[in-house]
Amino acid sequence: MIKGAQLYEGKAKKVFATDDPDLLIVSYKDDATAFNGLKRGTVAGKGAINNRMSNALMQRLQQRGIPTHFVQELNDRETLVRRVDIVPLEVIVRNLAAGSFAKHYGVEEGRVLQTPTVEFSYKNDALGDPLMNASHAVALGLATPQEIDTIQTYALRINEELRAFWRTCGVTLVDFKLEFGRLRNGAIVLADEISPDTCRFWDSETGEKLDKDRFRRDLGGVEEAYREIMRRLTARL
Ligand code: UDP
Repeated sequence: MIKGAQLYEGKAKKVFATDDPDLLIVSYKDDATAFNGLKRGTVAGKGAINNRMSNALMQRLQQRGIPTHFVQELNDRETLVRRVDIVPLEVIVRNLAAGSFAKHYGVEEGRVLQTPTVEFSYKNDALGDPLMNASHAVALGLATPQEIDTIQTYALRINEELRAFWRTCGVTLVDFKLEFGRLRNGAIVLADEISPDTCRFWDSETGEKLDKDRFRRDLGGVEEAYREIMRRLTARL
């Protein structure tokens, strides 16, 4: 596989072409941003942790029938993935109230929801990723009703798989963000990443935060938290 030109640089990853038009290389950075890019920093070792964690979780999901963009881990920071057209929706699944949900509805962080929820935000930095319902997404041509259906079904199945897995690690999966893409043949697959940047992980016993909230909220111990959550994952693989 020949690494080609850089196609894109995002906040936490770079994307490169390869000699195969259907494959890309994703390269994870240690850069961290929050609040739509207003807060910036670096978390030493984060790129390698997110790369390895995302790949391990996607392989697990793939084995359980959820299609993903994952092809092959190339090294610590780089992974070969299938090229997709990203559906411009952030798909957020919640098991406990936290973050924007807790604020929006005036409930305490940590309230266990009676059922998992799925919500969408429009992936648009200029607009600050506003919440969007399914009919809005269809009306704007961002996804078809069938695609929305598939995405919702996958999102809830992914939640069941991940929640059960993290429970065995002594970790509560509070909420997380997914992104989906379309292959050339139109099939919907899970894309982007699943990592402490995109999930809230709380220690099941102590409630200690083991994710990017330590960076967002200046709680300290950011590197240690990323290492600890990776250690818990590795012990279970
Ligand atoms: N999330 C994300 N990227 C975003 C927004 C949210 O990965 O641009 C993740 C976040 O890490 C959390 C979940 O989605 O696990 C729900 O986030 P929330 O809507 O509560 O937003 P926040 O308060 O974190 O901005």
